[in-house]
Amino acid sequence: MTLQLAAYAASAEHTRGRVHPEPAPGLRDEYQRDRDRVVHCSAFRRLEYKTQVFVNHEGDMFRTRLTHSIEVSQIGRTIARALSLNEDLTEAICLAHDLGHTPFGHAGQDALNECMREYGGFEHNLQSLRVVDVLEEKYADFPGLNLTFETREGILKHCSRSNARQLGELGERFLNNTRPGLEAQIANVADEIAYNNHDIDDGLRSGLLTVDGLMTCALFAEHYRAVDKLHPDLPAKRKRAELIRRMINTLVGDLVDTSRAAIEEAGVGSIADVRAADRVLISLGEDMQAQSREMKTYLRENMYQDYRVRRMSHKAQRIITHLFRLFMEDPKLLPLDMQSRLDDGGERARIVADYIAGMTDRYAILEYEKLTDPARHTI
Ligand code: MG
Repeated sequence: MTLQLAAYAASAEHTRGRVHPEPAPGLRDEYQRDRDRVVHCSAFRRLEYKTQVFVNHEGDMFRTRLTHSIEVSQIGRTIARALSLNEDLTEAICLAHDLGHTPFGHAGQDALNECMREYGGFEHNLQSLRVVDVLEEKYADFPGLNLTFETREGILKHCSRSNARQLGELGERFLNNTRPGLEAQIANVADEIAYNNHDIDDGLRSGLLTVDGLMTCALFAEHYRAVDKLHPDLPAKRKRAELIRRMINTLVGDLVDTSRAAIEEAGVGSIADVRAADRVLISLGEDMQAQSREMKTYLRENMYQDYRVRRMSHKAQRIITHLFRLFMEDPKLLPLDMQSRLDDGGERARIVADYIAGMTDRYAILEYEKLTDPARHTI
């Protein structure tokens, strides 16, 4: 079934194109090709062994960056389809949005950013763009994945003015305060809906969060009571799943209704109108925004700050900082392909950061052990 796209949806025939011009794809359109390139790239596969909150070896039940990205894309596609927007582009952006994440979640990002302070800093969002633009080595004719402008625009969620100046056309909207396309806006909110809900799910499963504690969040409490009333004897595990399903459904429903109304009210009739609009048009309603914020704050204060998470964050910081220092002091310790980038005149700190950011949790731990444990014989 071919779905009719709205006049303000991105259309593959009218893409602003790729940095390196390529022949049109045969069986797919341009955004489907972008999505496929993301799925086939090596940074995407490594997301399986990178974590959000939990470290990969803590248990097989928890979300990883890979399952997170798939959940974001599923939520994003539902929203795109409901609003007659471009589902393929939305999917491509959602699947690519976390490609630049360091090992060990936010602890890793903060540690690497600190290490890179004198060298332009490290920002995972910018790094995702770097992965698809430069770091992937998959094609004979160009570096990176050579994705379309619209997918790259969606990946770049935020950006400082100084970085934006170096990004040409892609950085323009951060300098002249215009909006990205609606598909990019969807990916942004779908990310938030996904992580709030799966962190609650994983938090309850791991015991870092409790139902009693979460009852202080209005959205959680409302749905918990509803599920409890309808299914008082349901085992806790199924109750939790039913509750999460309902919360996601409520948030997505609210988002679609609110965004549809906002699009209509703004009177947009084209992508140019979307870009020129004075605000983003894809958003939750005010009430739901407040409830989502409340959950986010609760999670930050009660889960991400839990001593068990902090212990792991502390270790992560130590591993990343130590690896960075070692490679900066002696770049000859780097693998040969990284050294060859140095020989080509690359900046040492950025190459080291690229190498560390690309590591999975377990690879970073292993690399640290190999380089610091005198009793370890493997190199
Ligand atoms: Mg994300």
